Amino acid sequence: MHSLLRAGIEIFDIDFLCYSHFHPDHTGELVPFIFATKYPDSNRRNNPLTIVAGNGFNNFFNGLRSVFGEWLDLPPGILQFIELDNAVPDQRNFEDFSLATRPMKHRPESIGYRITDTNGRSMVYSGDTDVNDNLVLLAQETDLFICESALPDELRVPGHLTPSLAGDMATRARAKQLVLTHLYPECDRADLVAQCRSTYQGPMLVAEDLMRIEI
Ligand SMILES: [Zn+2]
Ligand SMILES: [Zn+2]
Repeated sequence: MHSLLRAGIEIFDIDFLCYSHFHPDHTGELVPFIFATKYPDSNRRNNPLTIVAGNGFNNFFNGLRSVFGEWLDLPPGILQFIELDNAVPDQRNFEDFSLATRPMKHRPESIGYRITDTNGRSMVYSGDTDVNDNLVLLAQETDLFICESALPDELRVPGHLTPSLAGDMATRARAKQLVLTHLYPECDRADLVAQCRSTYQGPMLVAEDLMRIEI
């Protein structure tokens, strides 16, 4: 939320939150986000907030509500949830964009997203995942492939990718641009670009906070 403000965006400007899975490093600010929507009064939000996630989100949110109670309640119609299938590909169309999702290999609820605008430009976000044919299919020829790369190649752990594995996914998908993200501190001591270049030759970036990328 602090970074949003630095980027000139208020929480009230955001209409959609799309969750890849429920781990705390991805959902930790959901409670403060909703809580901040209530102050100084809930009328500051004009548009509804739609939260998109894999199956199980309602259960997850009910768990949060059992802890925080009324502090997560918003006026009727302001907060809505969309649960997408996490066993097979799913999709939804909205006014300005469409979402396509596929199951990822990380947690049972995990899904990756392909967001396509009305001009056909697309962006794919892997969420957290291990090597995964579904990710290659989701990212086919996408304009911007934002892929997790949690640890350097030599420190690979199950359930996550590394720069060379992310590069391999991008090459197989023929993605037009790759951005490595979800970087654990160990990544600061590795040459992520060199590792990624062993499997991917297209345009690529290592993500930094407040980076803006135009498609
Ligand atoms: Zn995770
Ligand atoms: Zn994570």
